[in-house]
Amino acid sequence: MCIKYGVGKFVFSSSATVYGDQPSLLKEDMELKKTTNPYGETKAMSERILTDAVHANSNFVVSLLRYFNPAGAHESGLIGEDPNGIPNNLMPYVTKVAKGILPKLSVFGNDYDTVDGTGIRDYIHVVDLAKGHVNAIEKIQQGINVYNLGTGRGTSVLELVHAFTRVNEVDVPYEIVARRQGDIATCFADSSKAEEELGWKTELTIDDMVRDAWKFEKNTK
Ligand code: UDP
Repeated sequence: MCIKYGVGKFVFSSSATVYGDQPSLLKEDMELKKTTNPYGETKAMSERILTDAVHANSNFVVSLLRYFNPAGAHESGLIGEDPNGIPNNLMPYVTKVAKGILPKLSVFGNDYDTVDGTGIRDYIHVVDLAKGHVNAIEKIQQGINVYNLGTGRGTSVLELVHAFTRVNEVDVPYEIVARRQGDIATCFADSSKAEEELGWKTELTIDDMVRDAWKFEKNTK
């Protein structure tokens, strides 16, 4: 449809899940492994379709942005994520527990080969992520280009929960439960390509993410 209607540039919101389960520091030129859940498979399929479309149409240019774990909210506390029903993702779940809407967080496994046994992810502030899109659009290049958007730093589930409690001075009751099917132990980005080619890198920290996520949750009915 893009080609039919003369849309020549396409920035696609992909995901780090396209890498599948493989060594934890992820780079764009790594071979993609089998995805571990259906969400990841939809992203991998979409990347393949867009890549083929670029190869078949020399005027079509695409940037694939592989998001790591977006978290937080705008610092105003006015723009954020309020998922329908019970959240699947860690940060929105934590904010609902802190607010007393959900009784406690289930930490999915503490027997991974990580610093404290809980899963490690590369959480990226949504404002940094949004800025990454601006750079990707402004600096879009010929052909197909892939960029990791992450901080390059891993944070465990318990480290995130403890940061939330410390920064916001609010309790987050939790219990350790079994691993969630499809989860991998560790995943974080090598984002040096985005820095070199797009002139982008993250500026905000885990403390900013937990502060802003909580500010938004408190503003939400
Ligand atoms: N997680 C958890 N409890 C939850 C939700 C997530 O312990 O209620 C863990 C999950 O096992 C993973 C991390 O938090 O290690 C991030 O999960 P999320 O679903 O936010 O993102 P994913 O990396 O799976 O896309």
